[in-house]
Amino acid sequence: MNPFQLEVLLVAVGALIAGMALWLRYDSVLALAVVLGMLFLFGLHHLHQFTRLMRWLEQPPETPLPTGGGAWEVVFAALHRRARLAAEERNQLSTALERFLLAGQALPDGVVILDGHHAIEWLNATAETHLGLSREQDTGSRITNLLREPDFIVYIEAGQYAEPLLLHPVRNPGCSLSLKVVPYGDARSLLLSRDITQLEKLETMRRDFVANVSHELKTPLTVVNGFVETLLDGLPELSGEEAKHYLTLVHEQAQRMQRLIEDLLTLSALETGRPAPSEECVALDELLAEVADEARALSGGRHKIDLVGVAGDKLLGSRNELRSALGNLVSNAVRYTPEAGAIRIAWERAADGSGAFSVSDNGLGIESQHLPRLTERFYRVDRGRSRESGGTGLGLAIVKHALTRHQAVLEISSELGRGSTFTARFPPQRVKQ
Ligand code: ADP
Repeated sequence: MNPFQLEVLLVAVGALIAGMALWLRYDSVLALAVVLGMLFLFGLHHLHQFTRLMRWLEQPPETPLPTGGGAWEVVFAALHRRARLAAEERNQLSTALERFLLAGQALPDGVVILDGHHAIEWLNATAETHLGLSREQDTGSRITNLLREPDFIVYIEAGQYAEPLLLHPVRNPGCSLSLKVVPYGDARSLLLSRDITQLEKLETMRRDFVANVSHELKTPLTVVNGFVETLLDGLPELSGEEAKHYLTLVHEQAQRMQRLIEDLLTLSALETGRPAPSEECVALDELLAEVADEARALSGGRHKIDLVGVAGDKLLGSRNELRSALGNLVSNAVRYTPEAGAIRIAWERAADGSGAFSVSDNGLGIESQHLPRLTERFYRVDRGRSRESGGTGLGLAIVKHALTRHQAVLEISSELGRGSTFTARFPPQRVKQ
C-alpha cells in the first residue's frame, strides 16, 4: 500500500469513527457536518500540496524543491532525488561537452562542423583564422555562401572527399590551405583545414635550389667538356704551351666545381639543425690572426689589411664554424675591394657584455635594395664579378647559418662605391674573458 492509499484509509476510518461517535452521542446532522468538514480539510491539504508541486514544475530546473506534508513528503523526496540525479547528469554532460570543445579549440588544425546542408554549426579559433570566418557572425550560415572560391564549391558539392583540396582563400591572402571534408553521423561533416604555407614555400625553395645547383655545375662542366674535346681532337697538332693553357682552364673550372661542392656540404651540415658539434672556448687572438693571415694570402699584397681590438677575449662555440663564417666575410671583403683598398678586421666588446666581429672595406659597396637578400643561397649582386673572383654564391648563406647556430646576428651596412661593413654580433653568454 502506498502512502496515499494509507493516508486516505486513515482519514476515512478516522472520519467514520468520529461520525459514528458524534451520531450516537449527539445527532446525525452534526456527525455528517464533522465528517464532511474533515474530508474538505483533507482535500484542501492535497490541493495545497498539488499547487506547490505545480508551481515548482514551472520554475527553472535548478530551483530547490519545497518540503511536502504527509504523504506528499514521500513524493517530494522522490522528486528531489530525481532532480538531483538529473542535475548531476546535466553537470557531467556539460563538463564533457566543455572538455570536448576545449580540445577542439586546442587543435592545431581548423575544424568546422557542418550540418546536412553545409551550414556551420561550430568552428574552432584556428578555422576562424584559416578561413577568415567568425563563430559569432557565421554560425548557421552555409559555408558555400562564405567561401565562394569556385574550386571549393565544386569540391564540397561533388561529395568526393578522398583527396584534400588545395585552397588559397581570398579571405586569408598569402595563406595556402589543405582542406579535407570528413562525413560523419547523420549527414553531418567535419571540414578540416591545415596551413601548408610553410610547406609550399619549402617545396618552392627546394625546387629553386636543385635548379640553381644544376645550373652552377652545368656551366663549368660544359666548359671542361669543351676544352677536353679540343684537347682530344687537336692533341697531335697542339704545342705544349697551348695544351698547358687548355689544361689550366680545365683545372680552374674543376676547382670552381670543387669549391661549390665544398660550400654545399658545409651548408648542408649547418642546416641539419643539430647543435654545433663541439663547443669550446675559442681564443679570438688566434682565430682572428688566422683569418687575417688568410685574407692577406688571398689579397697577395693588393690591399691594406688591419686587425684591431682583440685583447684576450674568447668566444664559446664551434671553432670550425666560427672560422668558416669569419673567413667568408673576410674573403668577400678582399674579393669585392679593388686593388689598394683598405680592409679593417675588428673585434669589439659592448657594455652589455656582447661582442661584435666586423669586417669593413672601402670597396665596391652594395645598393641598398640588395641588402635584405644577400644571405639567400646563390644570390649575387653581380653574377659575373662573383664568378670571376671565385665566388659560389653560398658564402653569406653559410655565414648566416653558422652565426644563427651561435645565437649571433649578421648586420650589413653598405654604400655603393664607398664600401661595406659586415658585423657578426654575439650575445653576452657566448663572450668570455
Ligand atoms: P659570392 O660567392 O658570390 O661572394 P656570397 O654569398 O659570399 O657569394 O655573397 C653574396 C653577394 O654579396 C656577392 O655576390 C656580392 O655581390 C655581395 N657581397 C658580399 N660581400 C661583399 C662586399 N664585402 N662588398 C661588396 N659586395 C659584397
